[in-house]
Amino acid sequence: MIITCEVGPFPTNAYFYIDDETQHGFLIDPGYEAEKLLYLIDKRQWTIEKILLTHGHFDHISAVNDLQSKLKIPVYIHKNGRDYVKDAKMNGSIIFFGLPVVIDGEVNYIDDNSEIVLSTNKDFKLKLIAVPGHTTDGAIYYSQRDNAAFVGDSIFHKSIGRTDLPGGNYETLINSIKQKIFTLPNETILLSGHSEPTTVEDEKFRPWFNYSVN
Ligand SMILES: [Zn+2]
Repeated sequence: MIITCEVGPFPTNAYFYIDDETQHGFLIDPGYEAEKLLYLIDKRQWTIEKILLTHGHFDHISAVNDLQSKLKIPVYIHKNGRDYVKDAKMNGSIIFFGLPVVIDGEVNYIDDNSEIVLSTNKDFKLKLIAVPGHTTDGAIYYSQRDNAAFVGDSIFHKSIGRTDLPGGNYETLINSIKQKIFTLPNETILLSGHSEPTTVEDEKFRPWFNYSVN
């Protein structure tokens, strides 16, 4: 099951991706409000095995320290994420938040195409696919089994991520979307950091993507 939890002032979508059989799962992009997320975890009696980050912007990572200290679980991000999660200028927290935010604990920096597998059910997994452009560490987490992808700020319902922040590049983002997201099956549900869900098929044929997809 996938449960969306809207957190923070902007707001950001944090997602729980939970295996129905074992009630274990992953938490993606805990941007703010650790207490709210912990309350839900406790109430639903889930065991969260890992925190997964689509990129290191402050509005996707600000609850990580509190969650990691309570749950004692590992955090994963694309290997370029080191530049963001440990640097309050790069991750935007000083500019937008007025407070420096960095992840204090250990972070696992992983390669493109890494699989993240649930320890209690090997069939329940996500694949990290690098989609640079919004940031250099941008990634999506794709579930073939559930036809879903957690896409962070790479693409939204009817729009795409901004590219004017550190490490952003418009051409790179367009290429990432064309080559890495629009090549997923049309029915794939895209779950973004800041919009309602959409699908590959719905976004592929927007006017600004009016070209053939390779
Ligand atoms: Zn972002």
